[in-house]
Amino acid sequence: MTAELLRDLAAAIGDGGVRIVDLTETLRPDYPTITLPPEFGQASPFVKEEISRYDERGPAWYWNNFTVSEHSGTHFDAPIHWVTGRDLPNNAVDTLDTRHFIAPACVVDCTKEVAADKGFILTRSFLEAWEARHGRIPAGSWLFLRSDWRKIADPDNYTNLQEDGAHSPGPDAEAVLWMIEERDVLGFGTECVGTDAGQAFRFEPQYPCHHYMHGAGKYGLQCMTNLDLLPATGALVVAAPLKIEEGSGSPLRVFALVPGNR
Ligand code: MN
Repeated sequence: MTAELLRDLAAAIGDGGVRIVDLTETLRPDYPTITLPPEFGQASPFVKEEISRYDERGPAWYWNNFTVSEHSGTHFDAPIHWVTGRDLPNNAVDTLDTRHFIAPACVVDCTKEVAADKGFILTRSFLEAWEARHGRIPAGSWLFLRSDWRKIADPDNYTNLQEDGAHSPGPDAEAVLWMIEERDVLGFGTECVGTDAGQAFRFEPQYPCHHYMHGAGKYGLQCMTNLDLLPATGALVVAAPLKIEEGSGSPLRVFALVPGNR
């Protein structure tokens, strides 16, 4: 059965029965990087340095060095990223359970709400209403908040920073606890710069998505794109971070397998 399953999958990818949707932003210097208050350490944006390009530095080859933080561009958050997950087993990107690299996704469409309020807060009742339409969120699934952020955010102010802090969507503490305790999700993903709402520094506890998800050994995905191309259920997501020794996360290529229209 397993050999046939893999053979059929490969054939379906080849003939369009299964389509691949790339959920990754291109790693590039001008992609917005999260900025913390000035008293804290800062994440490096993606910086590329050419080693040679078919020239005197290397006549037949082109290659680059690059510098990037573990949390720049489309990236994965491992439990060790947050203090609540610091002592969990297998909590860093090099020790994660590799079975978690492939998992189904539930895509919660919040585009109308985010268009009306960029600081939309995802609540338990909103998720329960989603389940009434689409069915129960299976254990071990990613929960993705779809906002179409790339289409609506100001490219010059991507985190939508105002005088009172950033305004971008994310879950409240009750919704996060429900996703963990009632649904046992694999993790939470978003198109915004962080899995927490822009105003989550005001929440109790602060940054509840990081606090509770990583404390429960669960993961985060941020700065994704193309969630509008996924079905509400039925996508299978491949998200395998780089194997950085004791890494807290990493930029990655994340993509989904979805039913095609062969
Ligand atoms: Mn991160």
